[in-house]
Amino acid sequence: MPKKAARRQSMKHPLPPVPEIKTVLVIMAHPDDAEFCCGGTAKIFSAQGASVHYIVLTNGDKGNHNLSITVPQLVKTRMSEQRAAAAILGVRDVVFMGEEDGFLEPSRELRRRLVRHIRRLRPDLVICQYPEILFRGDSYINHPDHRNAGLATLEAVFPAAGNPMFFPDLLAEGLEPHNIKELWMCMAPEPNHRLDITAYFEIKIQALRQHASQFDDLDAMEGWVRERWAEEDEQGKQRFFEAFKRMHFAK
Ligand SMILES: [Zn+2]
Repeated sequence: MPKKAARRQSMKHPLPPVPEIKTVLVIMAHPDDAEFCCGGTAKIFSAQGASVHYIVLTNGDKGNHNLSITVPQLVKTRMSEQRAAAAILGVRDVVFMGEEDGFLEPSRELRRRLVRHIRRLRPDLVICQYPEILFRGDSYINHPDHRNAGLATLEAVFPAAGNPMFFPDLLAEGLEPHNIKELWMCMAPEPNHRLDITAYFEIKIQALRQHASQFDDLDAMEGWVRERWAEEDEQGKQRFFEAFKRMHFAK
């Protein structure tokens, strides 16, 4: 077989089945991103007995158009909404990194902080936002924090988390290098992995409704989510899916 054709074929080779996932780490830009992106998936894993953790990179302090609410009040509200949503999905804990909303940067310091948590929690699977979406269609510009959250996560996962030469201070603390098995990115333009979340869709909705500060009309949000995540199966029955760009790292 000519070399080029062989390479093309190997690129098309299907990914192996998802390995056993005992620990999941979800890293998102804002409070509420995780519920939209992967709330059903988080619940599937927690229901299977996996240990699911969230890291929320920004404090969500721009998520408001009501100027009578102070920034500290808003941050506090968003943290408690995020904790309530996470609890509904069986998430074990939420770490708030406290970066300023709207100005997230994949800095060296943020990479170090993420590597610390990856080495501490030692996840099999990391779920993050796809780092390359600038806009979609004719009316949606992606939030810059979503892109940078994805980029910061990728840069922490590889090569820093698994390489002892990165951040020797962490190694000195006993935080040994760690390589994840799987990386799943949501909002990907060409997802290659879909999870049927129908069994937990009402729980995803319930979790999303915890973010009351973010929606003028919770029922309208719910209606939009039901439409956006719905698909019909071959029998014409409604199902719900969350889709990802999945990467597998052979061990
Ligand atoms: Zn967001």
